[in-house]
Amino acid sequence: MNIRTRIAPSPTGFLHLGTARTALYSWAYARHFGGSFVLRIEDTDVARSTQESVDQIIDAMQWLGLDHDEGPIFQMQRLARYHEVVEQMIAAGTAYRCWCTPQELDAMREAQRARGEKTHYDRRWRPEPGKLLPPVPEGVKPVVRFANPVSGIVTWDDLVKGPISISNEEIDDLIILRPAPAGAPDEAGALGVPTYNFAVVVDDWDMGITHVFRGDDHVNNTPWQINIFHALGAPLPQFGHCPIILGDDGQKMSKRRGSVSVTAYRDAGYLPEALLNYLARLGWSHGDEEIFSREQLVQWFDGSHLSKSPAQWDPAKLAWVNAHYIKLADDARLAALTQQQLASRGVTVDDLGLLARAAALFKDRCATVVELADWAEMIFVPVRPREEDLTAHLNATVTPGLRTLREKLATVDWDKASIAAAMKATLALHQLKMPQLAPALRVLVCGRTQTPSIDAVLALFPRATVLARLQHL
Ligand code: GLU
Repeated sequence: MNIRTRIAPSPTGFLHLGTARTALYSWAYARHFGGSFVLRIEDTDVARSTQESVDQIIDAMQWLGLDHDEGPIFQMQRLARYHEVVEQMIAAGTAYRCWCTPQELDAMREAQRARGEKTHYDRRWRPEPGKLLPPVPEGVKPVVRFANPVSGIVTWDDLVKGPISISNEEIDDLIILRPAPAGAPDEAGALGVPTYNFAVVVDDWDMGITHVFRGDDHVNNTPWQINIFHALGAPLPQFGHCPIILGDDGQKMSKRRGSVSVTAYRDAGYLPEALLNYLARLGWSHGDEEIFSREQLVQWFDGSHLSKSPAQWDPAKLAWVNAHYIKLADDARLAALTQQQLASRGVTVDDLGLLARAAALFKDRCATVVELADWAEMIFVPVRPREEDLTAHLNATVTPGLRTLREKLATVDWDKASIAAAMKATLALHQLKMPQLAPALRVLVCGRTQTPSIDAVLALFPRATVLARLQHL
């Protein structure tokens, strides 16, 4: 079997972490079985879809390394195909036009409520043998509805949730095509725009999709989709509905409660391999493995061991995973990322070699590239030591030693060993101890009391900067 999966985001915002995770599962599944992964843009919500969002989604997918084999395929470029299928369905009696006005539908629901019934569409326009349909009203644009089977059970074996069944008696005749809204392209104007549950089926069918992974917010849509697949005589894909991701407060993740977009994590200094690793693990497991590469994920991901229960976003664990990948990352790569971070703060640094040396020195202490940039920034931007640090570490005993050191540093070779030798000589001259000299240097030059080995740190700075920061002594 030729495995084909897809991700079908709606371009109404950024790439959400939940969508990224199902994209990741779909991608890994296709890669595991040597199949294809399709990117489809579900842009039928004309009012809310934007090109900017399409660009952001593609950018975020690329950043995560979720390369697609086909697409992006845009639904709004496939209107003719949906119209063709709708006409075939109307001819076959599996779909019909409905001229109900919104007022009529309101009245219908009102009456149902008054009778204590669950509200539903009463199928008044559904053609049936011997049934007299209402006269077609003037000036009303019809919708097209799917003639859902009135009885029987829809069942599927969900790859994540196991067997699911729902009675057709619970399901309405779904609208599959609506009159085009304002702003829709001319082509839609005459015939209308398909709804999600219909377009998704035509597309999954036409694109030969064999496995659909998506969020379980769609699990209620699947019975309609399965019925439409059957009505079209199309083969059913297998469905896997992944539970939503909960925020660290146990609530549904939302924009208000922290970052939910992939690109926000890029901007916050996370590495794509770390987010990929973390996202994959969130809702799927391979034994106890917490850290795994993209290649291992592809090797292991066969659709089993997907979690049935919602996963909880854990920022501390993500930071731990990211710290791991930062340690492994190549210094030149970290230098380029640090350069971008600094640029976003208005600090322009051209010397990538220096940033690479800074990355080598500081990366063990950093969970994100933002933290790396926090360290590197002190080299380029004047530091403002805290008053209490100055009081604690600068005093009449240490200041003469700092002055001597400044003089020595003005002429020594500018490397770690020579700086260390100058410090040692200074200690001997003034009978000082390293724990007196080093903190004072750190506070004055770095604006902080903790750093890696101070000789290595000083060697990163331009000599002139170090001398200037010791100048006022
Ligand atoms: N456009 C839908 C969404 O973004 C796609 C759902 C699906 O994968 O079928 O939620």
